[in-house]
Amino acid sequence: MSYLTKNYNRKKISFTRGKGSYLYTSNGTKYLDFVQGIAVNSLGHAHPKLVETIKKQSKKLWHVSNSFTIPEGEILAKKIAKKTFADYIMFQNSGAEATEAAIKVAKRYFYTTGRPHKNRILCVKNSFHGRTLAAIYASGSKKMTEGFGPKVGGFDHFIFGDHKSLKKKINKNTAAIMVETILGEGGIKVIPDWCLRELRKICNKKKILLILDEVQCGIGRSGDFFAFEKSKIKPDIVPIAKGIGGGFPIGAVLMNKKVASGMTAGTHGSTFGGNPLAMKIGSEVFDIISSKKFLNNVKKNSKYFHDELNKIKDNFPKLIKEVRGRGFLIGLQLYMEQTKFIGDLMKNKLLTIRAAENVIRILPPLNVKKSEINQAIKIISKVCLKYK
Ligand SMILES: *Cc1c(COP(=O)(O)O)cnc(C)c1O
Repeated sequence: MSYLTKNYNRKKISFTRGKGSYLYTSNGTKYLDFVQGIAVNSLGHAHPKLVETIKKQSKKLWHVSNSFTIPEGEILAKKIAKKTFADYIMFQNSGAEATEAAIKVAKRYFYTTGRPHKNRILCVKNSFHGRTLAAIYASGSKKMTEGFGPKVGGFDHFIFGDHKSLKKKINKNTAAIMVETILGEGGIKVIPDWCLRELRKICNKKKILLILDEVQCGIGRSGDFFAFEKSKIKPDIVPIAKGIGGGFPIGAVLMNKKVASGMTAGTHGSTFGGNPLAMKIGSEVFDIISSKKFLNNVKKNSKYFHDELNKIKDNFPKLIKEVRGRGFLIGLQLYMEQTKFIGDLMKNKLLTIRAAENVIRILPPLNVKKSEINQAIKIISKVCLKYK
């Protein structure tokens, strides 16, 4: 029997080793891993530079309290600030923590500027911001909040793509709009660039903040370092996590100077957040992924993948409804329920994962090889034939 709680519907399979795009079971069976811990292992498994970084830093210093200066964190924060919209960074350990902290930052900003009534956050109905109490109520999902009442207040919801409902839900108490730039769990739904620009305009006009949750779609996943960059807008607050640690748990909230002003001493903290080991690893991942050359390669290879998947879609028009997403955040939407299809891909040694709306989520490491993409294409085509 398993002594673990039953809050996951786990597959029987387990892995003992990973290398790059591949996972290996104890008997040596090799799987092409296009889940990568759900967009976490951004550089694949056991990347040599990350292995080296962990080895080196683990001999020097793992953890010290945030009541002391942590130079490794200062360095990573500076790197992020120099290359992104952010003026200030607050390190956490996970995505949910980062989104919750982002909400705290927004609320504190209005509190400290004499507008404490502006404390409500407007989110997309059935979005995903993590599993903490506040985050599940931010999602507005009935399923995720069932049995966890009383309701955590302070969240309003609008329907994805429904601009009227968005405008209607903004009132004098709204502090911020918080959306995933690309909805991940919700079915790989991209907010078009023009909508992001409109969102920014609305926020400016109503004097409210724009929080873009880039926990899943950020850190190079979309082909740009952040998914919002293509739209040329600047958000106020951006929670990140998944990809930034390359497999090591790291989260962070990035923000501009204006909103950072509310975060005075004692307003937030995290025992583990930003420790030297995490910061060294985060720095290495950031250096690699934020380089123009690396991102151009993500753009090029992911375009090839999208093109090939669209060819498959054209060949199986009754099976595949849409190829969604951007960069290496890819959704293959089927007309039918996708569980069996995912199982068949797995039987053919390709790992993928579900998302809402019958979507098969495909998340290769950002440094995936073209030959590995070709291998996946072959397997997907083969499984499609079965359903023809
Ligand atoms: C995964 C995810 C989170 C939550 O991250 P955890 O590390 O699981 O807490 C939050 N927001 C988005 C968009 C995510 O995809």
